[in-house]
Amino acid sequence: MPVVGGVFAALIVVYLIVMIPIWRLPAVPEVVYPNGFGVKVLVIDPGHGGENEGARTWWGEREKARNLRYARALKRRLEATGRWVVHLTRDEDRDLPNSARPLIANAFHADLYLCLHANANAPDLTQRGFAVIWYLAQDNAERSHRFADVMAASLAAAGLTPDRTMGRPFMVRHADPDTAPAYALTHDTLPVYVRERTDHRMVYPATMPAVLIETHYLTDLGEATRFTTKAMTDHVVRALEAGLVGFLTTNNDVAEAPHS
Ligand SMILES: [Zn+2]
Repeated sequence: MPVVGGVFAALIVVYLIVMIPIWRLPAVPEVVYPNGFGVKVLVIDPGHGGENEGARTWWGEREKARNLRYARALKRRLEATGRWVVHLTRDEDRDLPNSARPLIANAFHADLYLCLHANANAPDLTQRGFAVIWYLAQDNAERSHRFADVMAASLAAAGLTPDRTMGRPFMVRHADPDTAPAYALTHDTLPVYVRERTDHRMVYPATMPAVLIETHYLTDLGEATRFTTKAMTDHVVRALEAGLVGFLTTNNDVAEAPHS
């Protein structure tokens, strides 16, 4: 049956094309929780939902579903440590206004608030990489900026591609500078952006350090495919855990406890 053999060989080739770049990523070391870490509260906002579908892959997978998958995977991993209580702003396929989402983080008295999204750039199907966004107008802006730096460093250390050009397509698409969501890169080497003008409602009333992470591009075929695998999801989730713990332990949010 040469046809069956040919199909099988093609499937193996596709599998290797998807998996080899994942296997080559540097391993994320197991996170060591310091003495005094206690139990932290994280609220994760899986972006979009319901009729607000977000971006989509070329085969029609919606960003809202992928964001929720990553949020659930991160919640599972963190809660398995016994060091976290994690709440999602939505745990089903429904929309809620962006302005309502950070209020949920406040209601749970979260230590940290994390919005998870995936990016898209329809005119340039080769743009790829992650970006971390904090908002100049938010409460706790300076701590959120440090939080963004630590999260970006953790994702970069895990071998993920930094996207240093994110502001450009947004500025091109929104020709009116008064309504354009303005992004400016705030870090020389890592893709950490500050969003200055419109639509800071994504995090605005949140009182704790809060960032939005675009984990990858759905419009890049390679990233859209790789990030749908369990291996990549696990890898990203480990890097996010390392970043969350790293920020809390390096910013005096965790009391130093003597080793005994
Ligand atoms: Zn989104």
